[in-house]
Amino acid sequence: MTPQTDPQAGAAVKAADRAHVFHSWSAQELIDPLAVAGAEGSYFWDFDGNRYLDFTSGLVFTNIGYQHPKVVAAIQEQAASMTTFAPAFAVEARSEAARLIAERTPGDLDKIFFTNGGADAVEHALRMARIHTGRPKVLSAYRSYHGGTQQAINLTGDPRRWASDSGAAGVVHFWAPFLYRSRFYAETEQQECERALEHLETTIAFEGPGTIAAIILETVPGTAGIMVPPPGYLAGVRELCDKYGIVFILDEVMAGFGRTGRWFAADLFDVVPDLMTFAKGVNSGYVPLGGVAISGRIAETFGKRAYPGGLTYSGHPLACAAAVATINVMAEESVVENAAELGASVVEPALRRLAERHPSVGEVRGVGMFWALELVRNKDTREPLVPYNAAGEAAAPMAAFAAAAKANGVWPFVNMNRTHVVPPCNVTEAELKEGLAALDAALSVADEYTE
Ligand code: PLP
Repeated sequence: MTPQTDPQAGAAVKAADRAHVFHSWSAQELIDPLAVAGAEGSYFWDFDGNRYLDFTSGLVFTNIGYQHPKVVAAIQEQAASMTTFAPAFAVEARSEAARLIAERTPGDLDKIFFTNGGADAVEHALRMARIHTGRPKVLSAYRSYHGGTQQAINLTGDPRRWASDSGAAGVVHFWAPFLYRSRFYAETEQQECERALEHLETTIAFEGPGTIAAIILETVPGTAGIMVPPPGYLAGVRELCDKYGIVFILDEVMAGFGRTGRWFAADLFDVVPDLMTFAKGVNSGYVPLGGVAISGRIAETFGKRAYPGGLTYSGHPLACAAAVATINVMAEESVVENAAELGASVVEPALRRLAERHPSVGEVRGVGMFWALELVRNKDTREPLVPYNAAGEAAAPMAAFAAAAKANGVWPFVNMNRTHVVPPCNVTEAELKEGLAALDAALSVADEYTE
């Protein structure tokens, strides 16, 4: 795992990237992507010999770290025996992946529809809900991320939606619980839960219950800030869905497969949705894969009637072989338990100490290996360190924080005024301590922007 230095090779990779790769979510001429030479476990490195502890798990998907030998071997074996096959056939890797996933999903979510990733899983969950209910509308939370395809981005609450929002009829946003930024309406988690449920029921009433196919929520909203919902909220949404005949979709693309210290975040709250989307951690992102876990009731709708949707690479054998190996590794190496235990014993206390010491840390929240630090200019006013939807100059404080973290050997996840602590779920205690010390130093840079 010693990085080899080869600046010339790095320069060639970078030059070809800059000449031909069109990057997502970026102004093409303003970006400067790092040329990555290799990765293993919780680390990756560049061509200049710099090694980084990955506190982002890629885009929160390498739940078992990079290059796990058992998963790499499973992909190689699958490639040697059956690299690809069309979805309409029963093939071993796909059958086995579906069985292992269905065994772990809550309640009767026992049928698995495979997609290539998270956004298309969301698209298909919506289609299933609309056909099942015969209703057009979907309700989703303002602080949310559901993917970059047309419907998924319309559901998304964050500003990335604005540029591509077609004003699509049938998507209505609501305010899910977030006590830290809802304090003028609620002072306790309990009050915030009641506010959010009352607001949701009012929204349903004014939209017309008979027009609403589904409510979609991330079980624990991730990209939007890791807001662990208060006790009773998701159970309350479940009750509203039952009362009005609405399909309840939980999006576990980021929160699923060990991230919260449970196989699925729904297990933390004892709720069973009608449909559940997943991707990312299902195979640690080694080969693109996502899917929808479907309850018996909704599966029945498509028992004698064709489901009108599919993808050429649905349940691709290489991706499914990687999922089978990943799930087995997670079980054999107690990866879910590791996320729960080290999250509670190491990450949470360390982050709370950082919040006490640093004026820039307004709030710490999270669970398992899924944590956010909300960085503020002023702890009393809670003014964010950079404005909402910050870009360019305004984002300078977060850029300075990120640069300091990288200089200290940690690659941080930064989104607006937040940094998320989301290392691989099989991270070790020593790695966590190394990363948390680097964050401590980087937060001193953020402190300089406080008042
Ligand atoms: N849903 C959630 C909760 C996500 O976090 C993401 C991606 O971050 C998506 C959906 C979209 O997944 P993908 O990027 O694989 O399409």
